[in-house]
Amino acid sequence: MKIDVVTIFPGQIDAFTSEGLFRRAVQEGNEIFAHDLRKWTRDSYQTIDDRPFGGGPGMVMKVEPIHDAVQELKKKNTEVVLTSPRGTLLTSDLAKKLSRKDHLIFICGHYEGVDERVREHIADIDISIGGYVLSGGELPALVIIDALLRHIPGVVGNPESLKEESHEKGITAEYPHYTRPVEFNGWKVPEVLLSGDHRAVQEWRTRMSKP
Ligand code: SAH
Repeated sequence: MKIDVVTIFPGQIDAFTSEGLFRRAVQEGNEIFAHDLRKWTRDSYQTIDDRPFGGGPGMVMKVEPIHDAVQELKKKNTEVVLTSPRGTLLTSDLAKKLSRKDHLIFICGHYEGVDERVREHIADIDISIGGYVLSGGELPALVIIDALLRHIPGVVGNPESLKEESHEKGITAEYPHYTRPVEFNGWKVPEVLLSGDHRAVQEWRTRMSKP
């Protein structure tokens, strides 16, 4: 899979691709690139924002540079994702769907957001990562990418660990985990986990998973 992220802060994306899951994804043959939106500006000031029609505070990101970036980066099977607090809420199912695409382009907004014509005419889908407003689309893009990379075979080390993952089983929170030592500061690991009784462990885990 190839992922292009269009942003005014490419360094924020690069910081993630150099370590951990993202790096592993790249080692497995996936491509994740950050592109500086200013590359597609049309004036010597490299203007990417302007005042909102109708007045009001703040600035709005202009449609032209985003349009030109997507035109240049787009291929035949590209899905263009706009990050937006008003978009479709990200779920495990949506992440899985995105993981099956050949090519994704993410558009990261800032300020008051992006000219609505990007959503209307350029993006294929707009996605929110939750009911709150962040200052930019970089973290949302990274959250969506993390959630979808986990569904690409070979990216998560142990496929069993992905299968055990709570959202795969239709529950919202996984059971609690413990590791050594058995006792720390007088805080003990639940007895059942040490029992070696697999059925009892399974029952406990099911019980402890939040519906
Ligand atoms: N005034 C806008 C908010 C813009 S926030 C409004 O009320 O809709 C600036 C940018 O941050 C957005 O364009 C989007 O790219 C990103 N962003 C902020 N919160 C987000 C969220 N919950 N999910 C996805 N993207 C978000």
